Amino acid sequence: MSVLIFIDQSEGHIKKASFEAAAYGSALAKQLNTTANALVLGTVSDNLAQLGNYGVSKVYQIQNDNLNHVDALVYAKVISGAVQQLNASVLVFSHNQTGKAVAPSVAIQLKAGLVTGACALPTTDNDFVVKKTVFSGKAFAYVKITSAIKVITINPNSFGMQTAEGSATIEQLTVDVPAPSVKVVATNKVSGEVPLTEADIVVSGGRGLKGPENWGIVEDLAHTLHAATACSRPVADAHWRPHHEHVGQTGVQIAPNLYIAIGISGAIQHLAGVNRSKTIVVINKDPEAPFFKAADYGIVGDAFEVVPKLTAAIKAMQN
Ligand code: FAD
Repeated sequence: MSVLIFIDQSEGHIKKASFEAAAYGSALAKQLNTTANALVLGTVSDNLAQLGNYGVSKVYQIQNDNLNHVDALVYAKVISGAVQQLNASVLVFSHNQTGKAVAPSVAIQLKAGLVTGACALPTTDNDFVVKKTVFSGKAFAYVKITSAIKVITINPNSFGMQTAEGSATIEQLTVDVPAPSVKVVATNKVSGEVPLTEADIVVSGGRGLKGPENWGIVEDLAHTLHAATACSRPVADAHWRPHHEHVGQTGVQIAPNLYIAIGISGAIQHLAGVNRSKTIVVINKDPEAPFFKAADYGIVGDAFEVVPKLTAAIKAMQN
């Protein structure tokens, strides 16, 4: 058995979630008494050798202009080709947008068993059983994979990023790259200062903020914390904020280290998109707001009083 970890990159930078996938894949390789290698597609400006700090021995890179943007069909073919060439038996993705789009196609092409949204290392003594979250994180399922090749996508923030001193070697790999199935005509940065899905900290506002004219306090706090901004669905539906900021069951699903919810009630559909955040802080004037049940820290108070004070206190600490 050997483990291959897919490293997702955007504009040449390794995505945060890939470091966690690398740590997970390396721990799994250790459990299987084998080595963990990584696979990266396209041109990368970040130092790939740093993946050694997450337990990766070797990084295989396939460089081709057609791989600099995610094209799920092309990626699936190229990754499947690499898995066959390298004889890998377990393939690990992050359960992020790329992983969700590509891993199922790879699994079909390799006739591999697939578990998406894993949240712990599998058992490997007798059977290969993977624990995964279901019903938007409300329950767990244990899924046995019996095929020779196994594909896993790992939930961001569910394993951690154990590091150790190390340096991975880098090797170029040649795999046939099919013609693109899509043509990228333009790329737009859609969020504020920090892309929402990559952000360590997210500051989010709900209907409690009363109107778009009041978003200054949210942006100020986000700016102070170098955070991304997000919102609840009704806020996006009312065009107070753009739709790409809407988080939840029907919006973007995120797992930052810190999620600050301001004037959001905490409906189940909202929680479905944010409940994998490591720490949740809720600011709401209603002590009975359901969000407090999911919060690590809660502030009962008027957002228009609390948030500017919080921002000022953080600014004072930073000076
Ligand atoms: P409200 O429920 O109106 O809550 C506003 C909160 O602000 C209240 O708790 C109130 O106490 C507080 N508040 C008011 N004034 C202040 C103040 N001055 N200071 C502090 N707090 C204050 N919602 C999502 O967010 N994401 C989704 O993906 C999503 N998908 C859905 C899918 C379906 C099929 C359905 C049916 C619904 C979905 N919803 C989704 C909607 C969801 O059910 C809730 O209606 C929505 O999340 C509520 O948004 P809110 O918390 O901003 O507003």
